Amino acid sequence: DALPSDPELGNYVRQVKGATHSFVAPKIPANPSLIHANPEMAMALGLTEAQTKSNTFLNVFSGKTVYPNTKPYAMAYAGHQFGNWAGQLGDGRAINLFEVEHKNKLWAVQLKGSGKTPYSRQGDGLAVLRSSIREYLCSEAMHHLGVPTTRVLSLMLSGEDVLRDMLYDGNADYEKGAIVARVAPSFIRFGNFELFASRQDHKTLKQLVDYTIQNFYPELENTSDNKYLAFFEAVTHRTLEMIIHWQRVGFVHGVMNTDNMSILGLTIDYGPYGWLDDFNFGWTPNTTDVQHKRYRFGNQPNMALYNLIQLANALYPLIEDAKPLEKILEHYQNDFERKSLDMMRRKLGLQTNNEEDIKLIAQLEELLHEHETDMTIFFRLLSNYKKGSAEDGIQIIADAFYNPEALSEATSKKWKVWFKAYDQRLKNEQVTDEERKKAMNAVNPKYVLRNYMAQLAIDDADKRDYALLEELFEMLKNPYEEQPEYEQWFAKRPDWARTRVGCSM
Ligand code: AMP
Ligand code: MG
Ligand code: MG
Repeated sequence: DALPSDPELGNYVRQVKGATHSFVAPKIPANPSLIHANPEMAMALGLTEAQTKSNTFLNVFSGKTVYPNTKPYAMAYAGHQFGNWAGQLGDGRAINLFEVEHKNKLWAVQLKGSGKTPYSRQGDGLAVLRSSIREYLCSEAMHHLGVPTTRVLSLMLSGEDVLRDMLYDGNADYEKGAIVARVAPSFIRFGNFELFASRQDHKTLKQLVDYTIQNFYPELENTSDNKYLAFFEAVTHRTLEMIIHWQRVGFVHGVMNTDNMSILGLTIDYGPYGWLDDFNFGWTPNTTDVQHKRYRFGNQPNMALYNLIQLANALYPLIEDAKPLEKILEHYQNDFERKSLDMMRRKLGLQTNNEEDIKLIAQLEELLHEHETDMTIFFRLLSNYKKGSAEDGIQIIADAFYNPEALSEATSKKWKVWFKAYDQRLKNEQVTDEERKKAMNAVNPKYVLRNYMAQLAIDDADKRDYALLEELFEMLKNPYEEQPEYEQWFAKRPDWARTRVGCSM
C-alpha cells in the first residue's frame, strides 16, 4: 500500500490532515550556480564527474527543473522540541526529489533550501550560504570520521539574497541564498511516527513502521519476537552507537529534538552544531539554549534517551505492553555506561579491561575541565606517550593547554599523579608504545571541523572564493591520517574565535 498523500496541491502553509506527505514544487532559483559537487556521493548515485558539471545536474539539484517522471514531496512529521510537544512540523525547507537505486543501494535525495512547503510555518523555506556550507562540510567530515550521518551531493548558490537575523550581533542582514542536495537511505525521523500516534491514526502508524522495517530493517521481518518491539530495540541500538561516536569525536548536535532524530540512527539536521575545542561537558553551540543548556555535550546521551522514550510512546499502540519497552530503555542506560567506558578506554589506548578504569577516566575528565584543554589535541598528543615516562607526561600534552602560562602548580601536580596512574595502568597492557599509538590514532581524529574553520571558509565563500572550502573538504576526508600539508589545522582555536558559535538558520 502506498502511504497516504495530501490531497491538496500547492506550497501554501497549512495543517495537513490524514497524510504522510504533500507533493510540492521546488522554488525556481533566480540564477543558480554550482559551488561544489561531491564526487564520492555522485559516484554512489551512479553519476560521473562530467555529469556533475552538466546543465542537467545544475538544473535538477538547484530545483530549477523537476526530473522527468518524478514527483517531489515534503514529509509531514511532528516532534518534541526542547522537552515540549510541538505538534505538526514537517519538511519546512526540505523537498524530497526522488530515490536512486544504484549498486543495490537505495538513496533518497532532498533539496534543502528550495522554498516553502505546507510545513514551513513562519519560515521562508530558504537556506543561506553560511548554514549550507556548515552542513556540507560537516556531514562529509562526520562520514569520514566513521559517524553515521546523512550525506551531501552538491552545494549551489540560488542567485538570490535571503533575509536573516544574525543571532550573534542581533542585526537582520541579507545573505546569499543556497541549496544543498543531501542524501541518505531515508530521512524518516522519530517525529514521523509521533505524528500518527498523536493523530491516533494507528493504521498509518503501522503502515509507516512496516515500510521502515521492510526497507531499512529487513533482518527483523522474520524475528520470532514481536516485530515492533524488535524494531524499537534496533533503533535504540543504532541511536546509541551514534551518540557514542559523537562523544568520541567531540561533536555537539545542538538541537536534539525528536524531529531531528533519524530512525536509522544517522546524524541529521546540521543546524547550530559545534565541535568541542576545550573538553567541556557543559558546552553547547546553540545560542538559543544557553540558559538551560539542554543539548550540552555531556547531556547528549540523556537527551537521546528522552527522545527514545517519546518514540516508545509513539510505538506503544502497536505493542500495547509497556513493560518490554521500559526494559529496552533500561538497557539503553546500562549499555551506554558500558559502551562509553569502552570508547574512553580506546581513546586512552587501553585494550584490556580493568575495574579501576572508571576512576582513571573520571580523574582525567576532571582534569580536562580544571584547566582548559583542547580535546582533539590532547588525545592525539597522548598517543606519543612512552611507558615509564610519567614524569614527562605533562610535557607531551602541554600543547593542548589553553593559556599554559596560567596552569596552576596544584593542577600540574594532579596531572603528574594522573600520568603515574596511567603509566601504572599501561603496565597491564601487552602492546608496545608504537602499537598503542597506532590504535589510538585510529579513534582520536587529528582533523575536525572546528567552528572557526567553517567560519573562515564561509567568510571567503561569501566573497566567491571557494579555495578554503575545497581545502577543508579534502582535508576532512582523512581525519585520522597525518597530513603534513594541513598541519596548520591541527591547532587550538584562536582567541578571536572563543565566543563565535554556529547559527542554524
Ligand atoms: P530545525 O530546528 O532545523 O529542526 O527545524 C524545526 C522545524 O522548522 C522543521 O519543521 C523545519 O523544517 C522548520 N524550519 C526550519 N527552518 C526553516 C525555514 N527557514 N523555513 C521553513 N521552515 C523551517
Ligand atoms: Mg530539523
Ligand atoms: Mg534545521
